[in-house]
Amino acid sequence: MSMNQPLRLSPSAVTEYQNCPLLYRYRKIDKLPEPPSLDAERGTLVHTVLHDLFESVAENRTPPTAIDLLPSRWKAQIEAKPELIDLVSNEKEWLDSAASLLETYFTVEDPKTFEATHREIHLENDLTESIYLHGYVDRLDVAPTGEVRIVDYKSGKAPKPGWEEKALFQLRVYALLYWKNKGVLPRLLQLIYLGDGKLVKSQPTSADLESTEKTLMRVAKDISVSIEKDYWPPNPTKLCDWCFFKKICPAHND
Ligand code: SF4
Repeated sequence: MSMNQPLRLSPSAVTEYQNCPLLYRYRKIDKLPEPPSLDAERGTLVHTVLHDLFESVAENRTPPTAIDLLPSRWKAQIEAKPELIDLVSNEKEWLDSAASLLETYFTVEDPKTFEATHREIHLENDLTESIYLHGYVDRLDVAPTGEVRIVDYKSGKAPKPGWEEKALFQLRVYALLYWKNKGVLPRLLQLIYLGDGKLVKSQPTSADLESTEKTLMRVAKDISVSIEKDYWPPNPTKLCDWCFFKKICPAHND
């Protein structure tokens, strides 16, 4: 990566670097391929359905409508990524597992009662001349009175007590992007966990978002130093058990 190109930052890239600089290098610098993961693909499928659900008129946004969308959206996902066929041996069980996440969604909110203003909206901003920040927001609702709510769907379970702040980082970055671009401070950030039907909510203050920006600037500086010095230390943790690169990682193969 040339030092003259702006550094591309997203909330997931920042978290990845903070978790393990070497993993960041494998993914973002070396761009090593990784096989698809079932959990991630199920998450994509459910996100697609929750996106398309809002194309129905309000009274039709019901669990049966959402579940009926699953087979066609799964077919389109396989067409785009044919290797998924080998990943799913029992399609009925697979679609049932996605349907169960969708049913949980309806226990958390009622999509008949509001309009989703933006879905899968791309937000971007040049934080500085050398830092480009961007991200895709699952849903951004603007109330008739102007208040903004940013929503992200997670297909797993809510974090244990004490870990909510870490989980909210991603939404604070989106809120910062929206604030910078539109001059409006979002009123509410909402993480919806489809694995257990729990919500994590936060009302961001300008101080919260300024502190998020400071974190971004600090991590951007650390990444730039890593690039300059080609220094990517592994950081072995429990997360290594889910890391595809464990088999080539020096922390596990010396
Ligand atoms: S196995 Fe662990 S230490 Fe090695 S790259 Fe993956 S996350 Fe980092």
